[in-house]
Amino acid sequence: MTSRNHQLFEQSQQFIPGGVNSPVRAFRSVGGEPVFFQRGEGAYFWDADGKSYIDYVGSWGPLILGHAHPEVVQAVQAAAQKGLTFGAPTEAELNIAQLICRLLPSIEQVRLVSSGTEAGMSAIRLARGFTGRSKIIKFEGCYHGHDDSLLVKAGSGALTFGNPSSAGVPAETAGHTIVLDYNDSRGIEEAFNQWGKDIAAVIVEPVAGNMNLVAPTADFLNKLRMLCTQAGSVLIFDEVMTGFRVGLTCAQGLYQIKPDLTILGKVIGGGMPMAAFGGRRDIMQCLAPLGPVYQAGTLSGNPVAVAAGLATLKLVQEQGFYEQLANRTQQLVNGLVAEAKKHAIDFCAQSVGGMFGIYFRKDIPTSFAEVMQCDKNAFNRFFHAMLEEGIYFAPSAFEAGFVSSRHGNDELNKTFAAAEKIFKNWQ
Ligand SMILES: *Cc1c(COP(=O)(O)O)cnc(C)c1O
Repeated sequence: MTSRNHQLFEQSQQFIPGGVNSPVRAFRSVGGEPVFFQRGEGAYFWDADGKSYIDYVGSWGPLILGHAHPEVVQAVQAAAQKGLTFGAPTEAELNIAQLICRLLPSIEQVRLVSSGTEAGMSAIRLARGFTGRSKIIKFEGCYHGHDDSLLVKAGSGALTFGNPSSAGVPAETAGHTIVLDYNDSRGIEEAFNQWGKDIAAVIVEPVAGNMNLVAPTADFLNKLRMLCTQAGSVLIFDEVMTGFRVGLTCAQGLYQIKPDLTILGKVIGGGMPMAAFGGRRDIMQCLAPLGPVYQAGTLSGNPVAVAAGLATLKLVQEQGFYEQLANRTQQLVNGLVAEAKKHAIDFCAQSVGGMFGIYFRKDIPTSFAEVMQCDKNAFNRFFHAMLEEGIYFAPSAFEAGFVSSRHGNDELNKTFAAAEKIFKNWQ
């Protein structure tokens, strides 16, 4: 009997490139066919064949309250009933803007958009417009959405301009982007020595979550802040993933660094397409209609998306929410490491708030190069074996994982039991 998953994938490939609407979903990194989902509730979701999985992807981060949280669903239903979109301002947009500004002191003004990509692209244009400069710095392994300026990989030398990492990105565009190594304080110093006054912005994931998980060193983030201040460059924290995921004050609160601009997405939309960029008032006021930097969106601040975001941000503010989430995530990581240790497997893991990384490697990686040394084949084997057991990890060795407030002891224990079974027969 062919499975419904398989049928759907076959048919989708006829009408959708690769059968998916975002490439990582296609399972190319781990091999095999993607799973099609039909329903989710709490920590679980069900595929097209009715099989259930414990979900450690959470739609790549947004689902901090798990699937279909009743209060979020209710807020969405209530908003939808009053109208799907107006293309004109609403009180709910004011409410969420005020809330974001209150929770993140670095943000004095904020504008809502529909995706993290849009937020990143807009923040870069704004930083360029504000400074009158063109060059930007990003770090290898960090992902900031698929804007042309940011689909760039390192050039041939350490201090050369980047090359496009995608066809279709003009070399001239990529040529304005300098790509440096994450956590390399010296590299960033050298770049500022060479180009300081030409650098419009540095964009960074304050905890890197798109090359598996790489935590920042304190020195690295401090140096970025100091050098940007000295050179008059805009420091952009990409908190699309870390925002309201690693804590209520986001990564900037956790590491006590105040960026000039922040981009947000994922959790702030509560599962709906919403993202934001915000920061210093003097910078934000360069945006149209006040200033010369153009940026707009037909569905920006969409009332249904804002309702999901507000409902989510209300619940995460409850006393102890992040302590519990961080503890749960740490427990997951500890349990997996303990199972691997029993069988002497080269495996380690770490968590920051509600996000985690697992690595088939002896030590926790601190750079892109070290992440690349992880045993990808071992991960892929582990991934498929866990999938079989009904545990859904990200279908790539180079993505972070996520825990929701609906993952309890029961789910963790099932995960450990599955890991035990797999590691027992590992050799
Ligand atoms: C997901 C992500 C983005 C892109 O957001 P989209 O909504 O997928 O466009 C940007 N930056 C980071 C750090 C992300 O994790």
